[in-house]
Amino acid sequence: MKLGAHVSIGKGFPGAVNQAYSIGCDGFQIFAGNPRGWARKPLADSEVAQFRKEREKYALWPVMVHLSYLPNPATTDPELYEKSVLTMVEDFSRANALGADFFVFHPGKAKDRDIGLKKIIAAVNLVLEKVKGSTLLLFENQSGAGGEVAGSFQDLGLLIKEVNQGDRVGVCFDTCHAFAAGYDLSSDSGWQQTLDEFEKFVGLSNLKIFHLNDAVGTVGSHLDRHQHIGRGMIGLQGFSFLMNHPRLNQLPGILETPQEAPDDDLMNLKTLRQLVK
Ligand SMILES: [Zn+2]
Ligand SMILES: [Zn+2]
Repeated sequence: MKLGAHVSIGKGFPGAVNQAYSIGCDGFQIFAGNPRGWARKPLADSEVAQFRKEREKYALWPVMVHLSYLPNPATTDPELYEKSVLTMVEDFSRANALGADFFVFHPGKAKDRDIGLKKIIAAVNLVLEKVKGSTLLLFENQSGAGGEVAGSFQDLGLLIKEVNQGDRVGVCFDTCHAFAAGYDLSSDSGWQQTLDEFEKFVGLSNLKIFHLNDAVGTVGSHLDRHQHIGRGMIGLQGFSFLMNHPRLNQLPGILETPQEAPDDDLMNLKTLRQLVK
């Protein structure tokens, strides 16, 4: 499995490439701007060119851009909805400009699930109409906390099948979110059942990448708290299944585990690589 980590753009976009390379990543994930703000400074052509050059030099794959945390394309609040779509358009454009392979976003929260799903589909259709390019747009499964839609594979499958340009979308599977949503990834039999359900409702061909996070909460707890690989409730056995699965290990995975000590990403990358039999 090609492995990477979420890295900071605090030292600019080219700086993120160097950070990923220096810790031995195959690929990496970044935000396209401040994840907790709506404002975006213009993206300089020189910075984009430098980013692409560095990335090519180190032959890093995949590169994924994560949408910031503020947008909620499932909302019925017209003002928040408009801002959400605008930010998705902006960040998805940036992902395409940077030559990212994937762009991932959280489908969001809604009081009424069915209305929320319709809102998301309309938002994604608009974004795909406005932004051209080869970056795939990925729905991320959520933990199903507090009105979050797309915790279930049923929701994810519906979203994937209802959008207009189906060949430009896919799924990013977050292991912590899936576990918190009720899919038991701690054992081989749990994984097998999860994959059967994923195939039934979403289709494994739509699965493009993993977010590799252990979980603080128990299965079905809806607690979205990431833990170091092997130190949470999914545990080493769960990640060993994934790392050695002949089909799943052909897909890439990105760590979003806690970054408290400087070597935390290195440690988690090593843990995963040591699980390969
Ligand atoms: Zn995410
Ligand atoms: Zn994630």
